[in-house]
Amino acid sequence: MKNLTQQADLIFHNGTVLTIDSNFSLTQAVAVKDKRILATDCNENILSLRGNETKVINLGGKALLPGFIDGHQHLIFSSLIEDRFDGVQDIALSNGYTSIAEMGVNPMEIEEMLQIEEDGLLRLRVNVFENYNLGHFDEEGKPAVMYHLDSWYLKNDPILDHDRMLRIPGVKIFADGAGLPERGCPALIEPYPETARSKTFYESCRSEYGDLYFSQDELNQIVAKVHDRGYRAAFHAMGDRAIDTVINAIEFALDGEPNELHRHQIQHNSLIGPDLLKRYAELDILAALRGYFKTCGLESYIDYYGPERYQWAANRYALVPLGVHVYLETDSGYINPMINLYGLVTRQYVNEDGSVCKPEPWVAKHQISIEEALRIMTIEPAYAVSQEDVLGTLEAGKFADIVILSENPLEVDPDEIKDIEVWMTMVGGKTEYCAEGHENLCP
Ligand SMILES: [Zn+2]
Repeated sequence: MKNLTQQADLIFHNGTVLTIDSNFSLTQAVAVKDKRILATDCNENILSLRGNETKVINLGGKALLPGFIDGHQHLIFSSLIEDRFDGVQDIALSNGYTSIAEMGVNPMEIEEMLQIEEDGLLRLRVNVFENYNLGHFDEEGKPAVMYHLDSWYLKNDPILDHDRMLRIPGVKIFADGAGLPERGCPALIEPYPETARSKTFYESCRSEYGDLYFSQDELNQIVAKVHDRGYRAAFHAMGDRAIDTVINAIEFALDGEPNELHRHQIQHNSLIGPDLLKRYAELDILAALRGYFKTCGLESYIDYYGPERYQWAANRYALVPLGVHVYLETDSGYINPMINLYGLVTRQYVNEDGSVCKPEPWVAKHQISIEEALRIMTIEPAYAVSQEDVLGTLEAGKFADIVILSENPLEVDPDEIKDIEVWMTMVGGKTEYCAEGHENLCP
């Protein structure tokens, strides 16, 4: 006799299910019960979990995956100001994101988000990182910090509950500039070359080495404090000097403990020196990776950084084969996950006129497989916020955060990955987006 407790609320069958589990198992069907995955298996075994009340969706061969997770985004908080919060959630959900890490918010915005969560208005999972500093200089030429706003992380423990739609697991720390007048420049170990000095970009730099916001001692104390409060630190670090200083500060805060417990992480990683690559691996530091950005016509990098250093711009890809935990950041760039997947796999970029620009040889030599790229967009960003046990793959017991795609990314020509569409997005067993014309796929 069938065990009644094992009857599914919902079954998807007759598809290609990419579980993204550790073996990258493919199967045909998924059963959902009480917001969570009950099982993934072949059609026959999953359909045996069907009861009188079970909704059954025939996937018609389409691909079903875990929902995408963006490890660095600025989506929600601009919408609080502009009062278009729900529209912004729709943007994320229609792109197949079921969870995002929202970077750089202030304590008032955190309170507002907590209220939105309490009112039941959050339709996707949001992990919030409070700003430690503001990523630019104040009137006195010092890094603008948030002390005056009474930092939330100093007064409250992190919120890490998996059942909450809003979690507060981290603090964002800007370590260097970004090449804009109020922000200064990425901080370098060796000075910017002569060829950079005539560039508009260089006018932002306050020194020939770029702009490091904190000394090593200052950053050590800041990170140790964040660490002791139980928060993970996520750093904006672009230049090699910033990355080096950040890695030292993480090492100082860890004081011999494994980062697996704390998950301190570096974002952008724009110019990693070759000696720094192995330090990510040694200390198990997580790194964010932009999936899609211009990877050709990069001659100007030679002027900015010099003939030896400019190719370091591709070193971020080299973190993947080193076994570093690398996760997707779309930041304020291209949110479409398929464009990011296309970028990770092909390292190509589509110009405004529609022509495809092929990566420079020093970019092209770094290969990322489609399987690795999909992990970077699902289980790795879940790991970055310590949710790898409940999100990021389709396995029994995890939340039913699911997308259905128009094509199987494992089967299409890599050049066509960018054209794949999201047809259904589900968060915790509830359909939150359904593409027009594909209602038959939406429970
Ligand atoms: Zn950002």
